[in-house]
Amino acid sequence: MIIGTHMSIAGGLEKTAKAVVKMEANTMQIFSRNPRGSNFKEPTEKEAEAFQRIRKENGWGPLLAHAPYTMNPASDQEKIYDFACMVLREDIARMDRLGIENMVFHPGSHTGIGVEAGIKNIVAALNQAITGKEQITVLLETMSGKGTEIGYEFEQLREIRDRVDHPEGLGVCLDTCHIFSAGYDIVNDLDGVVARFDEVIGLEHLKAIHFNDSLTPFGAKKDRHATIGNGEIGMEALLRVLTHPALKDLPFYLETPLEDAGHKEEIRMLREKVEGSRE
Ligand SMILES: [Zn+2]
Repeated sequence: MIIGTHMSIAGGLEKTAKAVVKMEANTMQIFSRNPRGSNFKEPTEKEAEAFQRIRKENGWGPLLAHAPYTMNPASDQEKIYDFACMVLREDIARMDRLGIENMVFHPGSHTGIGVEAGIKNIVAALNQAITGKEQITVLLETMSGKGTEIGYEFEQLREIRDRVDHPEGLGVCLDTCHIFSAGYDIVNDLDGVVARFDEVIGLEHLKAIHFNDSLTPFGAKKDRHATIGNGEIGMEALLRVLTHPALKDLPFYLETPLEDAGHKEEIRMLREKVEGSRE
């Protein structure tokens, strides 16, 4: 089982890696830059090496970088769109240099211009950022559909992937809270949702799972994460996601509202339950 949580790298990469080990996690998600969108403190070569050494020694699974929530490549406002293009370009290159396997971003909100026009902007933003020479895979996140968000239907993600110049560099990150909120019933019909994903996008393009419970009910089109087992999805359904034959080997990233100590406990509890269910 590959499981970790979102980590702050404010104290430096090496210190963060040590905190992950202490948490008994074997992967992590980090922001590709300050979540408010400003600059990223470039790690020194020594720090980057120490970080890679720690992850190798501990046999971690793939790492995930998350682009800032504030960027919106679907926007038709020049300033907002140009900023998103710059962030995608710079952060994909920087995370690739650091040896991070995947970088996820929210496709964006069309803010009134419509899904089709929004998708056109997202595709153009990706085309100016992905050169085809990267090792890193850029992931579209499945969204809840709040406001004018794009990416709450698998078909929208497929369309983006179909239209970019380098689809081989583009995958998907599935967020359990978001898809539940968008109206995919992972509680009563997980097999059906997985089959639908496979049919529309292809399971081979699914690279990561954001593993969250949901504060708001099924189909609410809200994006409110709950701790595992304390939301509307619930423990049983989430354990079925974690152990589903088509999903169980993917890296799982908790984005639950807890501090490091709480996440350590959450990871330990999940490992115990998964191992218990195998007996
Ligand atoms: Zn996200």
